[in-house]
Amino acid sequence: MKKHISVAMPNFLGNEKKYVQDCMDTVWISSVGKYIAEFEAAFSSKFGAEYAVSCSNGTVAIHLALLALGIGPGDEVLVPSFTYIASANAVRYCGATPVFCDCLADTWGIDVEDARKKVGPRTKAIMPVHLYGNPCDMKAVMAFASEYDLKVVEDAAECHGAEFDGKKAGTIGDIGTFSFFGNKIITTGEGGMVVTNNKSLDDKVRLLKGQGMDPERRYWFTEVGYNYRMTNIQAAIGLAQLEDMERHIEARQNIAKRYDALFSGRKSVQKQQQTRGAESVCWMYSLLLTDNAKITRDALMEKLDEDGIETRPLFYPMHSMPPYYNEKAGCPVSEDIAARGLNIPTHELLSSEDVAYIAGTILNYTE
Ligand SMILES: *Cc1c(COP(=O)(O)O)cnc(C)c1O
Repeated sequence: MKKHISVAMPNFLGNEKKYVQDCMDTVWISSVGKYIAEFEAAFSSKFGAEYAVSCSNGTVAIHLALLALGIGPGDEVLVPSFTYIASANAVRYCGATPVFCDCLADTWGIDVEDARKKVGPRTKAIMPVHLYGNPCDMKAVMAFASEYDLKVVEDAAECHGAEFDGKKAGTIGDIGTFSFFGNKIITTGEGGMVVTNNKSLDDKVRLLKGQGMDPERRYWFTEVGYNYRMTNIQAAIGLAQLEDMERHIEARQNIAKRYDALFSGRKSVQKQQQTRGAESVCWMYSLLLTDNAKITRDALMEKLDEDGIETRPLFYPMHSMPPYYNEKAGCPVSEDIAARGLNIPTHELLSSEDVAYIAGTILNYTE
């Protein structure tokens, strides 16, 4: 049989089946049930945030966070161009405008100096996105935000458990969001979480995700809300995944260390650098091809596919795609990285032989 190595795979180590079985046995399968509250409580305590609210996915988590901050039509939000499209789309859902900032060439986090050129009278918030498991320089982001009186929404969809200055990414700004899509560090199939230390933001997110229903008066709606709820089954899976989060992260960090050793000193490839003061959780091991590489990125991906190794291109810059097309975005680093980079398989079920095969095959084509 032809070899096939997926770029991402979920891994179930603990109580997932048992908790799901419990949902079935007790018939609490919809968005009411004990696992919702347990998952939220366990998440806030593990992450060191006062409040955590579950929701149906990571995209609506960002939407809820922005709405809770009062972002609306006429407002601008500073968003990296080099990100997953959900970060920008959520801004649009609010009727606000994402203003794209460039990223740093080494860590790929939002470039605060570029944000400084793009901040204006309508700017209300900045959204650092902790890409591929590596936290942004939150010290720089927080200082910038306080200088311009901006709210900080952390898109932490790709970095559960990563830390900056000893604090969990996603809990440093005003509000942070997570995704539990099937390829993320911990998963619920589809799912999301909003975390904050601010009670009124927590209240607002809870109100909005449940159709705007008054918490004191059932079936009385105080504003137009949404059905953005998570199910008890999703929360059951999430709670089990969260119980083992450290093991999931350690397994990924071990894979990344193996890759590091195999790629170190090679002139044809360059890896994403960890932010100073941060600990990455290595969601996706990511490489750039340098000028020394003997093959283009797209040709390499095709060759690897023939060899049974699935890869992904790095995110296309937001300003290069139809919904946000803008020739004058001024994000040259994002364009450069996006054109030269790829994500290679990073998941817990890779054996050391798989990792050696993947790295060896890549270097065979690039050197
Ligand atoms: C996955 C992801 C999201 C969205 O999460 P979904 O659960 O797929 O809606 C948002 N931002 C980033 C950076 C992501 O990687």
